Amino acid sequence: MLSNDKLITAISKDGKIHGYVLLIRDTARIIQEKHKMNIISSSIFLRALAGGALLSGSLKNRDDRLILTWSCTGPVKKIVVDVNYQGEIRGYIEEPNLQFIEGSLVDGSIVAEPYIGFGEFNLSRISAGIGIPYHSVTAIETGEIAQDLSIYLNQSLQIESCINIGLSISEKNEIEVCGGALLMALPGASDEEKKIIGDKFNEISSLTGLLKDNEENTFDILLNKFDLDFVSEKEIKFNCSCTDEIIRKLINSLNEKEKNEYRLADNKISVVCQYCNKEYLFDD
Ligand SMILES: [Zn+2]
Repeated sequence: MLSNDKLITAISKDGKIHGYVLLIRDTARIIQEKHKMNIISSSIFLRALAGGALLSGSLKNRDDRLILTWSCTGPVKKIVVDVNYQGEIRGYIEEPNLQFIEGSLVDGSIVAEPYIGFGEFNLSRISAGIGIPYHSVTAIETGEIAQDLSIYLNQSLQIESCINIGLSISEKNEIEVCGGALLMALPGASDEEKKIIGDKFNEISSLTGLLKDNEENTFDILLNKFDLDFVSEKEIKFNCSCTDEIIRKLINSLNEKEKNEYRLADNKISVVCQYCNKEYLFDD
């Protein structure tokens, strides 16, 4: 089994259940480095990133992309994940160095709920050839990334689903690998089939445990467990589409007062891309 970062698409024998299984290791490392996040922010942000990657499995066309935004009442404040059909993913968490909240460490893992709180989850789907992006908004009901994505799928798209996202943390307190699984019952699936989804999911009590023990075989184990057949796979990789040209256009759109907020002592204008932390310097 290849060990590079990827998303596998699978389907049940009767075609009524679609499954997506994700494993990211290099992408998790690159993102932690670029955003210089502590382990609490990393734990939450990478779960959101994994959620975006799992949902991107349903994109159909080459230029399609999803932007997921959590606007939170908790100290996280905001998380944005941008993922496209080609598996290129980027994003940011507004607070990269969250302070530990008492009681948020459960079974060796940080739970997101006290950091996210409530608020709004917004998903924008941008399709090539269709000028207007499709937006849908749901309330953040639980503060747990996977659970709230499942609620979103149910309320906005009337899709019954189960989502599990897990992280394996190294002795150096860094996230080594992040994994996720999403099962969706397609329209036409019977109540019986929907129940089977839940039952099968409950059998994997800990995706984190599975990642720690069997990382190389995680894909095979999950596809077997869910009784799904492999359909396709795609590489997931960090990529930011920012360029000199895009940032220059942004600066040109600012008035003098706004420009001055980005001005350094030497009169250069400095803009840092939120998605990749790259600094762009311009002479005015
Ligand atoms: Zn960038």
